[in-house]
Amino acid sequence: MTKKMTLEEMQAELARLKRLVPDPKRQIRHPKPDRVVEEEFRGKKKSCPRCGKEGDILDEFGLRMYRGKWRPQSYCRACRSSTTPHAAPPESEKDGR
Ligand SMILES: [Zn+2]
Repeated sequence: MTKKMTLEEMQAELARLKRLVPDPKRQIRHPKPDRVVEEEFRGKKKSCPRCGKEGDILDEFGLRMYRGKWRPQSYCRACRSSTTPHAAPPESEKDGR
């Protein structure tokens, strides 16, 4: 025999499930690229405008969220770690390719 749920029981179950769901208001401040984003950039290369090194975007450059879109970091990891954050002006959008 299968027991049928009453409306009250269903509402109680629904309320219980809602408590298990994380609060959507909790925003992630520094989002990390998920696998879909990484697949989009996988195998792609770019060269560093600073040291001229060409490398894999995911391995050598990394990604950053900019205005809701994922873009490759402009400088390679080595250059980014060797400069102080405020030393270089932000990269302008001149002839990118
Ligand atoms: Zn570099």
